[in-house]
Amino acid sequence: MVRLVILVLPVVAILGALTQPRSPAADAKKPDRGPVTVSDEARRIHAAAIVVDGHNDLPWEMREKGGSSFVKIDIARPQPRLMTDIPRLRAGGVGAQFWSVYVPAETEKDHTAVAKTLEQIDVVRRMVKQYPNDLELALTVADIERIHKEGKIASLIGIEGGYSIDNSLGVLRMMYLLGVRYMTLTHTATLAWADSATDEPKNHGLSKFGEEVVAEMNRLGMLVDISHVSADTMRHALRVTRAPVIASHSSAFAIDPHPRNVPDDVLKTVAKNGGVIMVNFYPEFILPEGGRRYEIMKEMKKQYPEEKDYLAAMRQWRKENPLPPATVHHVVDHIDHIVQVAGVDHVGLGSDFDGIPSTPRQLEDVSTYPVITQVLLDRGYTKEQIIKILGGNLLRAMRKAEEVAAKTKSNPPAPPPVSGRGGGGVRFGESSGEGERY
Ligand SMILES: [Zn+2]
Repeated sequence: MVRLVILVLPVVAILGALTQPRSPAADAKKPDRGPVTVSDEARRIHAAAIVVDGHNDLPWEMREKGGSSFVKIDIARPQPRLMTDIPRLRAGGVGAQFWSVYVPAETEKDHTAVAKTLEQIDVVRRMVKQYPNDLELALTVADIERIHKEGKIASLIGIEGGYSIDNSLGVLRMMYLLGVRYMTLTHTATLAWADSATDEPKNHGLSKFGEEVVAEMNRLGMLVDISHVSADTMRHALRVTRAPVIASHSSAFAIDPHPRNVPDDVLKTVAKNGGVIMVNFYPEFILPEGGRRYEIMKEMKKQYPEEKDYLAAMRQWRKENPLPPATVHHVVDHIDHIVQVAGVDHVGLGSDFDGIPSTPRQLEDVSTYPVITQVLLDRGYTKEQIIKILGGNLLRAMRKAEEVAAKTKSNPPAPPPVSGRGGGGVRFGESSGEGERY
């Protein structure tokens, strides 16, 4: 009997701890974390918003899976091998999409980054030409609003990784002319002029040339994207920028301490800056376990210096150590946190669809955005707040960046550099991050 009591008591205590809510407040705030059914009210609110997503990797998926051919992969038809196609964009009520013209960080080494980025811009521009009844290229907030009114999906272009300008402000300006409206300063590898979140630091922020890149982006009206950069680079960019910044696809570090996420002090600065953190849906960036997994991967990287050995070992480890399932509720937890720290004016959506190998439940593809609207409604957000989160905040930040650019152009503080070139293309360290692009 005694032995039984000794055994039973801890089990009861453990079961109790598992079934008890962590606190009454947390329980009141998150009453139901089960499957979500979208109500008519949520659908009405969703339809009243211009839903903007900060990051979708369809262009690279088209290159990899369809030879960049919209004949081979016709996105006007359902494409179950992808997370994105036009019927599902329509079902998701997407108003504007930033299409990523990502190219791998390795392209910096063989100096093919600029050419490949141009090819990816070509993919987006051919895509909007191919589907003129559904898509149209948008260069301004006014374009987004007009295209949305006409019942089409505004299509914007974002560069992912500063190596796409090959250390040249002239190339940056030409990218702007081709329609690029944001640039993520780094990808997975540290550049000569900006540190990445997933590589060794070199500058502890930005170099002098990195500051010039930010200034030139402000002057042009291209949004500075602080996803993928180190926290120091985020802070440095926020110190020197004259326009709002965005994180096109990053979540909150306080919930998941993964270096790809944004720490609270930066969230507070983003609030002052007028910027927007667009929440990434990737389970490793939203579940609290994600940060710990990153540390384990980093250790494995040391253990397997050869990239292919490391990738194989990592795949195996992931298979043996699956993450607990993520759901739409975890994504909205990040929205809640950013609202608490930065305010409801500084959060948005940056799914990373077609750039991530797995998704949370009920957020499997671009048709699922109304589920987020429902959860926001369930958590007590008003219609006005939901419309801001779904896209209004991004439109406000982009409009402000346009105003800053317009003022600079009419009254330049100093002559813009004509052929500024920094860094010499030297990349720090041998690491290319995790060999992943999200
Ligand atoms: Zn990414």
